[in-house]
Amino acid sequence: MPLDVLKEIFGFDSFRPGQEEVIRAVLDGQDTLAVMPTGGGKSLCYQVPALMKASLTVIVSPLISLMKDQIDSLVQSSVSDAATLHSGLSPEERWEVERRVRTGEIKMLYVAPERLRSLEFVLSLRRSGVGLFVVDEAHCISEWGHNFRPDYLFLPRAVRDLGSPPVLALTATATPRVREDIVASMRLRDPKVVVTGFNRPNLTYRVREVRQKKQKLDHILDVIRTSPPPGIVYATTRKECEELTAGLRRSGVNAATYHAGLGSAERSSVQERFMTDEVDVVVATVAFGMGVDKPNVRFVVHASIPGSLPAYIQEAGRAGRDGEPSECVVLYRNEDVGRRKRLITLNAAGGSEVESFFRALAGVEREGRVSVPPGSLAGLGGVEADAAGIMLRSLEESGLISRGYDLWAEVEVRRVEEEPEGLSDEIAAVHAALPGSGAIPIPDLAGRSGLRPAVVQGALYRMMLDGVLEAVPRGSLVDVRLKTVVLDEGIRRNIAARLKSHDSAAYAQIRDVQNYANLSKCRREHLLRHFGDTEDVAPCAGCDVCLGEAARPVPVTGTPTSVEPTRSAASPVDAALLERLKVWRGDQAREQKVPAYVVLHNSHLEEIAARKPRTVHELGSIKGIGLRRAARYGDELVAMVSGKQEPSGRSAGDTYREHLEVAERLLLAGRGADAVAELARALESGNEEARLAVNDLLKHFADERSTA
Ligand code: ADP
Ligand code: MG
Repeated sequence: MPLDVLKEIFGFDSFRPGQEEVIRAVLDGQDTLAVMPTGGGKSLCYQVPALMKASLTVIVSPLISLMKDQIDSLVQSSVSDAATLHSGLSPEERWEVERRVRTGEIKMLYVAPERLRSLEFVLSLRRSGVGLFVVDEAHCISEWGHNFRPDYLFLPRAVRDLGSPPVLALTATATPRVREDIVASMRLRDPKVVVTGFNRPNLTYRVREVRQKKQKLDHILDVIRTSPPPGIVYATTRKECEELTAGLRRSGVNAATYHAGLGSAERSSVQERFMTDEVDVVVATVAFGMGVDKPNVRFVVHASIPGSLPAYIQEAGRAGRDGEPSECVVLYRNEDVGRRKRLITLNAAGGSEVESFFRALAGVEREGRVSVPPGSLAGLGGVEADAAGIMLRSLEESGLISRGYDLWAEVEVRRVEEEPEGLSDEIAAVHAALPGSGAIPIPDLAGRSGLRPAVVQGALYRMMLDGVLEAVPRGSLVDVRLKTVVLDEGIRRNIAARLKSHDSAAYAQIRDVQNYANLSKCRREHLLRHFGDTEDVAPCAGCDVCLGEAARPVPVTGTPTSVEPTRSAASPVDAALLERLKVWRGDQAREQKVPAYVVLHNSHLEEIAARKPRTVHELGSIKGIGLRRAARYGDELVAMVSGKQEPSGRSAGDTYREHLEVAERLLLAGRGADAVAELARALESGNEEARLAVNDLLKHFADERSTA
């Protein structure tokens, strides 16, 4: 039963709105579209059926980091049959995952959309038998969405070639237009559509008008004062991120920057430290947060206006996933609107550029096809590499070209049977065209056999499977089919019109945001209506308009009040125990090579430190831990709670270091009394080394005080 899986694996007592309905439809084999707000619990809608079904579930997601975290969390719950395939894996790792898929060891496979551009991958999935095809963040298929991904357009083709398994599409973007687009573009068959309410009563919406750029910092500090971190500040440019971070740090806020310009190691380090509350505020471009499932984000401030209302709902929705009161604030400055609009013109390719790119493609087509390595597209069109990708997409959107499965660039072959019998005509033609041994480019083979490259590749693949030959494919080619080669006036107008309608759609989205900012009625209701939700909520008591807040004067700069984690539980958190739990979790995370929050969330640790479970069963009843995870860590945690065990079986001689580490964290958090108790424990060992270490620590803190 779905409910049993929910309890046992995920540790939740009941379903959230919509979840059960989606799960039932999916288990009935129906195509389904689930529209739920960010944080509404969409992942469970496919994870529960996937765990209940015997067949393979394929989940397409645009976010590698998100996939990795979800799988790490599943593994924590002893679900070992989940895996991910993305371009970040080495060939060996990918091979190993594909092997486990073939042998049926894997039940849940997360893949990046571009993986499904590989025909042999799709065929190998088909042989394994896909029972459910999940499209997460399904609005990425819509060119009207705020996050269009051209590779999503290819998914319906892959679904068909997988044997048309049931499809579950999920999104938080619910404008009626995007919803229709998903159903049509994904070719959902008579789908069950489940839309839950979009009202998030615990979020308060505010807009603050900012006249001068430098006032933004004061506004952010104002938010921090009334609604203590953790929180996220979104900025438009990297420079703005860095300036605001520096300003916040000068005011004593523990802030860090996150944007695409940082190395991936640094980005994951910032994310990890935010997840474990080592960083209080992340100032980021929109690159941050897609995969961040942090329950206790208390505020999301947009330091510049968001790009669209759907984008805003998604970004602001990262606040308050735990249901506790949280703030969503937009800082509105007129100049920023102009800047946003200029970004649109900069990003858009001009009609003449697209045309000349198309002519270059048409110049090298053979029988209406162009097969070139992705890297050479740019050279072909005489444009930058990034621009080539954008134009290809623009032509695909205009319906001038279609892009098929990617092809191998070349294959190295060794014939196993010299004169195989019973081959179909096509396969025999390819076999006859093969060299005796060695490598040959696929386009050459196509020329020799008189067949299309895609057909050649299919034939090679068939022969590999049948043991007729051994082949090692190398490299990849983009396979483009031109639907026409002449650009007549009608097509020109079509391209120009499409580009224009894209531009005007983008402008319209900014106008929507402007209208939102200038509202004189309930902001919450306005947002709900924009997403087709008809619930009456005004007056809502949760937006600046309904609260009757007049345009507030710019706050005076000051130091934010000390930042304490907020918690709703009745019993107080045992701070020392909490710190010990964090040390233990750090050890677990290092040992298992996963981020700390994957082992247990901070909210779990706080709950443990407050409720002090005495049995594994009690531990398992804490929300979100789950019986399996409780079984895995229960004995150790229960022993720590009862004070019987030091964290993670470190050797006894080392235990004073544990206490020292905990004491240091407590001192940093300004909890002197708790720290003293911990230092006393460190000294209990009577060890000379411990005494010196304690002295050192105290001296260090005394020095800090006097210099501060
Ligand atoms: P979405 O993908 O819709 O943004 P997620 O699937 O990431 O949301 O879930 C958001 C949070 O809600 C997660 O922390 C998840 O564990 C939690 N959650 C999901 N379903 C339930 C439930 N039935 N009861 C309690 N918490 C849930
Ligand atoms: Mg999600």
